[in-house]
Amino acid sequence: MFLEADLHVHSVASGHAYSTIQEIAREARKKGLKLVAITEHGPQMTGAPSPLYFNNMWVIHRQVEGVEILRGIEANILEDGSIDLAERYLRRLDLVLAGFHAECIEPGSVEENTRTMIKALENPYVDIISHPGNPHFQIDPEQVVRATKRLGKILEINNNSFRVRRGSYENCLEIARWAAHLGVMIAVNSDSHFTYDVGESDQAMAIVREAGVPEELILTAKAQWVKEYIWKRGKRLGEHTTAIV
Ligand SMILES: [Zn+2]
Ligand SMILES: [Zn+2]
Repeated sequence: MFLEADLHVHSVASGHAYSTIQEIAREARKKGLKLVAITEHGPQMTGAPSPLYFNNMWVIHRQVEGVEILRGIEANILEDGSIDLAERYLRRLDLVLAGFHAECIEPGSVEENTRTMIKALENPYVDIISHPGNPHFQIDPEQVVRATKRLGKILEINNNSFRVRRGSYENCLEIARWAAHLGVMIAVNSDSHFTYDVGESDQAMAIVREAGVPEELILTAKAQWVKEYIWKRGKRLGEHTTAIV
């Protein structure tokens, strides 16, 4: 199965990633992708861009090198389940991922992590939970997938996890199985930090296949499905939105 979209890509602006948006778009076009979301880390991560960066993302053209670009963020989930960018900036973005990162939150018990993740899911600006299978932040997969379904949101199976978050395999498989069982959509993303990784999803797709997730539950399979999801979430994808100054 070919995936037309990659909704989790870091550019050089994230502080520990190494490619420009134009390089990313060029690579995406070469691989036949139709849509890429640029999702820098939220401001509380060391080296991540300030709120001003997210405020100004509207200057990035909708099409770069023939690939449609979404202006996004991978926000950090904080102890109280909130995320690290103010509403007035979040509402200007096309796509909001939120995830646990050890720099910004201490791991808790399974119950605590589950509660915090569900709180983040309940945030009306959050569209996708990034790497929910992170073994440093164990969650109850059934509860999280049920909450995702109730809220009409998306969970990610993250290809980069199998390199940088050892022990992700079992957790991701369990999440994917629950998603298949309950009919919850999954976003298979690269979490690329260097241009060659854009659109790479082999390991994540192997898990999704093993879990029996059908193509119609894989949001990133079709660029059109991504756009329909964003429209359903009440966002417009206009040419430009107005910057807050
Ligand atoms: Zn992350
Ligand atoms: Zn990431």
